[in-house]
Amino acid sequence: MKIVMLGAPGAGKGTQAKKIAARYQIPHISTGDIFRANIKAGTELGKKAKEYMDQGLLVPDEVTIGMLMDRIAEPDCANGYILDGFPRTIPQAESLTAALSDKGTAIDYAINVDVPDENIIRRMGGRRACLNCGATYHVEYAAPKMKGICDKCGSELVLRDDDKPETVTKRLDVYHDQTKPLIDYYGKAGVLKEVDGTKDLEQVFADIVKILGE
Ligand code: ADP
Ligand code: ADP
Ligand code: ZN
Repeated sequence: MKIVMLGAPGAGKGTQAKKIAARYQIPHISTGDIFRANIKAGTELGKKAKEYMDQGLLVPDEVTIGMLMDRIAEPDCANGYILDGFPRTIPQAESLTAALSDKGTAIDYAINVDVPDENIIRRMGGRRACLNCGATYHVEYAAPKMKGICDKCGSELVLRDDDKPETVTKRLDVYHDQTKPLIDYYGKAGVLKEVDGTKDLEQVFADIVKILGE
């Protein structure tokens, strides 16, 4: 099963993608997590990506597409995967479609997690991230057991630099401009599924399971 998660930054793609990955036993691939891991490790890719990420801009397609293609060519992706944060532009989607079609396959589901902009601003301000293991929390809606500490690995939780309000507004503009057209793209491909992302996160997951099957 090959799944793409669509939705604005902060819509809950990552939260749901992790639950889907666990339930259906497929790898969760987040381009944002891959970039952050590279930044942490101080690689050239990380340095390049950070320049864009800090400004709320997309990392250029030349960098992002190759990185994602390498990742989905790894053996653990043979039975499918869930992509979280890719594609984010029409050229990224076209490259993915072309690469899959060369192998006689295609994306099975594009799940759009729909959340209005007003809710997004609130969610991003409360998001706390573990930069060590990639876990995500919310101060109100998905609080860790101990304030400021990751449940999974015990590291300190942070407000990501790009989750500060100035940058969130920029990221939403970028979303509307470059990423939202993908809803139409996957609609035309006949694989688009919509879920109401304003519901409680367990309810959103239940709605997704209804789409994907038990
Ligand atoms: P969020 O989960 O809030 O949507 P991500 O972790 O997916 O954020 O992405 C963080 C940042 O990483 C983006 O704002 C962008 O700069 C960069 N990024 C992630 N995925 C992509 C992509 N597919 N194309 C270009 N830039 C990306
Ligand atoms: P994305 O990957 O789309 O950027 P995340 O999954 O990181 O979004 O979610 C953004 C923030 O909102 C996180 O702090 C997360 O804990 C919280 N969140 C996710 N889903 C919901 C939900 N259904 N209701 C309330 N808060 C949510
Ligand atoms: Zn952690």
